[in-house]
Amino acid sequence: MSRVLDGKELAKELNQALKPRAAALARPPGLAVVLVGEDPASQVYVRRKGEVAERLGFHHQQITLPADTSQARLIEIVDALNADAAVDGILVQLPLPKGIDTDLVVNRIDPDKDVDGFTDANAGRLARGRPNFVACTPKGVMRLIAHAGVNLEGVNAVVVGRSNIVGRPQAQLLEQANATVTICHSRTRDLAAVIGTADVLVVAIGKAEMVKGAWIKPGAVVIDVGMNRLADGRLVGDVEYEAAAQRASVITPVPGGVGPLTIAMLMDNTYEAARRRQGR
Ligand code: NAP
Repeated sequence: MSRVLDGKELAKELNQALKPRAAALARPPGLAVVLVGEDPASQVYVRRKGEVAERLGFHHQQITLPADTSQARLIEIVDALNADAAVDGILVQLPLPKGIDTDLVVNRIDPDKDVDGFTDANAGRLARGRPNFVACTPKGVMRLIAHAGVNLEGVNAVVVGRSNIVGRPQAQLLEQANATVTICHSRTRDLAAVIGTADVLVVAIGKAEMVKGAWIKPGAVVIDVGMNRLADGRLVGDVEYEAAAQRASVITPVPGGVGPLTIAMLMDNTYEAARRRQGR
């Protein structure tokens, strides 16, 4: 039976440690979150981010816009936030409604306020091994792995998923920590066999319990990024949890694993943006 990595507890510790550091700045870190439309999952994520920001004493503003907001208007709002001295971090909640060019909007964010790490500038910095702001979910996964006391040097790490917000930056971070990294995606042949080579497995697919427990190498570290809502309302990951927990040495639950770390890393990035902009 594996050790369960409690992301909620770790996030709480990290947030508690950040609060006095944020309070020691000349002014509180400022986070602006832009939500376009009424996607229920996005509404929940944005609310949680706002709650944590407020708990940490950050200056937090949420800008909620109707789904039919034009791209030009959204760009104007991002420009205004870029110019606002009280705003250190800007987050445009994704997905954006159809008809809006997400890349265009995201890349309009000043890279020094891009606390999500999604701009081409910051993704490029990471790809070149000179990270600036790193995407919050893969950064949180690295914190969880470190917290579990896992030494990544030379281990076989397998990342399932190659999205720009999770899989791709995750693979880069693991490689930069000296793991030997394999990236799997929808065209991978014999996913089970590749997963079976993983000492460290990070799964970010978005398909409920697709990765079977029997595929896991005994003793592997299993990090499940997936969040899938079942018809009966339950939230499950991309990994068949009970069966995987029989084989893994360490495993993250869903919920309460990676999710809380994502928000903690957003706070970390926002604090860091504020600290730098205040010349501290
Ligand atoms: P995404 O953009 O849809 O990417 C999914 C990736 O999975 C793609 O690279 C896709 O391959 C790959 N894939 C799809 N089907 C596959 C299959 N049968 N075998 C192997 N690979 C397959 O999703 P995402 O934004 O990265 O999110 C992934 C999951 O993580 C979702 O459940 C999301 O809700 C969750 N998530 C959680 C957090 C958190 O804070 N906990 C944050 C972000 C995302 P192709 O590239 O070939 O299409």
